[in-house]
Amino acid sequence: MAESHSPRLAVVVPCYNEQEVLPASVPTLLEVIEKAVSDGLASTDSFVLLCNDGSSDRTWAIIEDMHRADGRVKGMSLARNRGHQRVLLAGLESALRHGAEALVSIDADMQDDPWKILEMLRRYAEGCEIVYGVRSDRSSDSWFKRVTAEGFYRMQRSMGLDTIPNHADYRLMSARATGMLLQYEEANIFLRGIMPLIGLKTAVVEYPRTARMAGETHYPLSKMLSLSIDGITSFTARPMRMIFIVGLILLLADIAVAIYVLGAYFSHEVISGWSSIMLSVWFLGSLILMALGIIGEYVGKIFIESKHRPRYFISDELYD
Ligand code: UDP
Ligand code: MG
Repeated sequence: MAESHSPRLAVVVPCYNEQEVLPASVPTLLEVIEKAVSDGLASTDSFVLLCNDGSSDRTWAIIEDMHRADGRVKGMSLARNRGHQRVLLAGLESALRHGAEALVSIDADMQDDPWKILEMLRRYAEGCEIVYGVRSDRSSDSWFKRVTAEGFYRMQRSMGLDTIPNHADYRLMSARATGMLLQYEEANIFLRGIMPLIGLKTAVVEYPRTARMAGETHYPLSKMLSLSIDGITSFTARPMRMIFIVGLILLLADIAVAIYVLGAYFSHEVISGWSSIMLSVWFLGSLILMALGIIGEYVGKIFIESKHRPRYFISDELYD
């Protein structure tokens, strides 16, 4: 069961304006790595890869200092801010290229218990190639964040998206699974939706989510909304089917309206239907606009994907 050789672990951390957080979180990650090495779960050349996503504060300077002070801290920087999903992908690709065998992605703020990496590595040693970190308790998040996040997962499920509830981007992947992930070439990548498509042997590790170590969230409501719209529109065309069904129902309603109107016409009623006409014009107008908007989302996706633009450029890498 236990593998004869312990894997080279890479802990990949996306960092966007995290100058307050890094001095606290990196020592913790190094401690976790030390423990993993001493437990025989990871090799001695395991490392932390800090991935700077075009931060505007001192994040990159701090990463450079940390790399100089401790060779187990590696660095990678994108040429500009590309967002959480893409910097993560860039970091995974970079770590894989530098010989990582087990890759863990984790946020910089340590809201996801880093000590669970040990349990993930144990699952890995048992042959699991994707290990999902799942939040069992979100009571440390604000009420608003909890309610919106819950709505986010519920909407995804109702749209037929196969995601793991309460799993964000804290997970372990084998080198093979990471290589497979990198073969998905879409520009608008939604990692949580892709991972279940890969298959392979998976496992789940649960942990309670804690509050941010320092600094503030970079996921305000606007970014959460755009992530959830991307998540849905890149995985399912069900919203378009729903437009069709709503149209069909309205068509049936139209028949009833037509019967009513004709009846009124023949019983020579006066034209007093101004309010009902206004209501239906507004109602139908908003339905049409919504339908156009949904179709526009998909057409926009086709437009963006058809250009095959590079998803990111790595400008710097710090490996010994
Ligand atoms: N992040 C990033 N680029 C961005 C926004 C966020 O790399 O444009 C990183 C951020 O540094 C953190 C992770 O993504 O490591 C999650 O962000 P955050 O903790 O702010 O989100 P929340 O946990 O509040 O959803
Ligand atoms: Mg966070």
